[in-house]
Amino acid sequence: MAKIEREKIRLGVSACLLGARVRYDGGHKRAGALLRALGADVEWVPVCPEVELGLGVPRPPILLVGSPSSLRLVEPESGRDLTGPMRRLARARVRQLARLGLDGFVLKSRSPSCRLRGVPVGARDGRRRRGRGLFAAELVRGARGLVIEEESRLADRRVRARFVARVWAAAQRRANAASAAASPERTQSAMPTPR
Ligand code: SF4
Repeated sequence: MAKIEREKIRLGVSACLLGARVRYDGGHKRAGALLRALGADVEWVPVCPEVELGLGVPRPPILLVGSPSSLRLVEPESGRDLTGPMRRLARARVRQLARLGLDGFVLKSRSPSCRLRGVPVGARDGRRRRGRGLFAAELVRGARGLVIEEESRLADRRVRARFVARVWAAAQRRANAASAAASPERTQSAMPTPR
């Protein structure tokens, strides 16, 4: 197999996981253990869809309402409906990210924008429902084949090992495709060991 041209795996990440103070309350959710576990083998590409939408820091909390098949993202304090603007922002951002050649993405858990699974959705009938954050939904839809995982699941060593193997394979495929036309040199690079 061809040598990976890039020195690092390139992963998108919810910016608050890197320690950026972009949360609604002005704080962050730096995932120190995860960052240490993935180590120096990763080049991070941070994204905060809520800040990029112009909601500011700090900002009023937002939440998902409706049903999983008809979600609305709203700011209860003002009554603003942010569904359309967030979907448009997310689609454009996902197209932009695709051009960067990401090998995977780590999303923040428990966020109405970033969560991949199980965001609580408020409903008038009081029944509990679960949905996917709007940015996460556009990422899954628009970046087909991208390896995506939630930060909370990556605390599990086995899940993390599988994730690293998949993103490394993605990086390797990309390098193989790029070098097939550009260079006859074909050498194998070593997969990093997840800690
Ligand atoms: S979870 Fe997503 S939207 Fe919320 S602060 Fe983190 S990066 Fe921004």
